[in-house]
Amino acid sequence: MQSLFAIAICSLLGVVSCGSESQKPNDSRKMSDQNQTNTNPYYSRTDTSHLNITDAEWKKVLAPEVYYISREKGTERAFTGKYWDYEGLGTYYCAACGNALFKSDTKFSSSCGWPSFFESIRPNAVKYLPDNSYGMRRIEVTCGRCDGHLGHIFDDGPAPTYKRFCMNSIVLDFEPEKK
Ligand code: FE
Repeated sequence: MQSLFAIAICSLLGVVSCGSESQKPNDSRKMSDQNQTNTNPYYSRTDTSHLNITDAEWKKVLAPEVYYISREKGTERAFTGKYWDYEGLGTYYCAACGNALFKSDTKFSSSCGWPSFFESIRPNAVKYLPDNSYGMRRIEVTCGRCDGHLGHIFDDGPAPTYKRFCMNSIVLDFEPEKK
């Protein structure tokens, strides 16, 4: 019952908070990956130091769709992101700053239309903030390095944590596992 309720809320958010922001998954992946690695000087997968960058500066270096989610707390439309049903093995990084966020072995199939994980890659990889917008009491998840918005966390995930990190694909960069 609880998970059904969560799915209903998830679906509602997909309509209410992001109904007008449609994204083309393949286009956004190509655009953001190229943008982050080529023109974003703050992007690093090895430097974990905290960033204090103004939104005006972020706007210069991020792809527009990444800026919208990361800095304006936007939400991609459900079932449109590039990773909601992706099952590749590897690591997910913050698309804004390169901070490692999740491993694919903590990703699980969620019917709400966004990539879902039950645990972050390390405890301080992300931060948690209360979010009372849209008449709901939720916990926002932000990047531990750049403070960019990633999504929300709910209590209806699978064992062992029973948490569900409900993330936006657009602010995730995936790196396949090396064979
Ligand atoms: Fe980040």
